Amino acid sequence: MENLKEKIRELGVISNQLEPSKDERDSLNKEIQDYANNFIDTLESKPSYYKGKLDESKLAIKDQKQSLSDLLDVYTSEVVDHGIKTASGGHIGYIPGGGIYTAALADFMAAVTNKYAGMHFGSPGAVAIENELLDWMKGIFGFPKNAVGNLTSGGSIANLIAFTSARDKHQIKNENVVKSVVYISSQIHHCIHKAIRITGMEDVQIRILELDELHRINAQKLEQTIQDDLAKGLNPFMVIASAGTTDTGAVDPLQKIGEISKQHNLWYHIDGAYGGFFILSESKKELFKGIEMADSLAIDPHKGLFLPYGLGAVLIKDKKAVFHSHHYTANYMQDATDDMLINPADVSPELTKHFRGLRLWLPLQLHGIEPFVACLDEKLLLTTYFRNRLTDIGFDIGPEPDLSVSYFWYSTSDADENEFNQKLMEFIHQDGSVFLSSTKINGKYVIRIAVLSFRTKIETVDKAINMLENCLVKTKEYFKCNLEVSA
Ligand SMILES: *Cc1c(COP(=O)(O)O)cnc(C)c1O
Repeated sequence: MENLKEKIRELGVISNQLEPSKDERDSLNKEIQDYANNFIDTLESKPSYYKGKLDESKLAIKDQKQSLSDLLDVYTSEVVDHGIKTASGGHIGYIPGGGIYTAALADFMAAVTNKYAGMHFGSPGAVAIENELLDWMKGIFGFPKNAVGNLTSGGSIANLIAFTSARDKHQIKNENVVKSVVYISSQIHHCIHKAIRITGMEDVQIRILELDELHRINAQKLEQTIQDDLAKGLNPFMVIASAGTTDTGAVDPLQKIGEISKQHNLWYHIDGAYGGFFILSESKKELFKGIEMADSLAIDPHKGLFLPYGLGAVLIKDKKAVFHSHHYTANYMQDATDDMLINPADVSPELTKHFRGLRLWLPLQLHGIEPFVACLDEKLLLTTYFRNRLTDIGFDIGPEPDLSVSYFWYSTSDADENEFNQKLMEFIHQDGSVFLSSTKINGKYVIRIAVLSFRTKIETVDKAINMLENCLVKTKEYFKCNLEVSA
């Protein structure tokens, strides 16, 4: 017995290194805090994109201990300085968000206290905070109080949970699969296709709906397509609309699609991962009419509420449909279950999960909602400003966007237009002062802008315009030289 205790004490001395003393904590905190301050204070003066070669050997797990300051150096040189500066206002590609500081502090608190956010039993307070946030979202999107919801790691998992529920509600299984029909648009996010496969619905019939000139689903065509499928004896069961597509930011006619889906008893899912929170902008309320008709809705606070990556959300009206696949009890959970309460674990594939609600709850309480709404309004106006400046310097721009994603291209007869714009994109990435991404719209190569970082300001747009002017000169020179060579 003495021997056993002796051995435990010896190991305890070593394992105690995992619990730094207060002095050690102060010193570590200070180093991290200085790092964070310097990062934020110099962020906007640095390039937003850099494509260099990583020295992965620096990231190797070594046997010896290393100092925090050495590790922070490596973190800067191999992580922070490479790729897209996604925290920067100059991230105007893909779908940005930025990552507000107070959410990072909440993550720190959540990690230090390590509250368990899977079940009421473990932390009724943490679960109550998550439920409060979900209720807040239900209020915003006009969902009934008895809808269920979950805070997910992001939009993809939010969409996946919704799909699983739609499948179970409509019993899409066995021989039913091949004659069941899902209606989507060509502009749907690719995570929808993943969700269809992951949920075992790979063999359903997928109808890709025609879009209008603003890249929105043509609701009349939807009605016609459903009629045709019914006439063929098929089983239309689900329609998916976007409240802000990734490529062009288009909001589908939510109300019309909602009416059609009710009429035909379809599960109506809306993907609002990019655009959903623009409903908070007074100027956009009208566009979102009908969102409350959805059976399920995916939204992404790590986009539209500017949080650091790691927070999406799903709201679903039919609790029974959600519970079919997600609610489970096990012997070792017998102390923790209470039939009256809905646990996060009943609405998600996750059990033990990060207390991710705190990263939204704390900022909302600290700042109030006003700066979030102002920020969304600001992004909408900055998009208009950006588009105006683009036409000033000779670019062609896509149609007036619904939200804050738009696209442009340089029209030229001196070279193949797609090749020209692709080369221009290469120069933009080489420059990197502001990060933009590209896409194809009806086969045409275009450059996208997505204004959603809370750090994007007028100065950022001016910087982007400056960069574009320089890159345009380089692209023109490049094609002139090439023409001369081939002549
Ligand atoms: C970003 C996005 C997704 C995927 O969400 P993640 O948070 O990246 O998993 C889904 N749909 C749309 C419209 C998006 O913009």
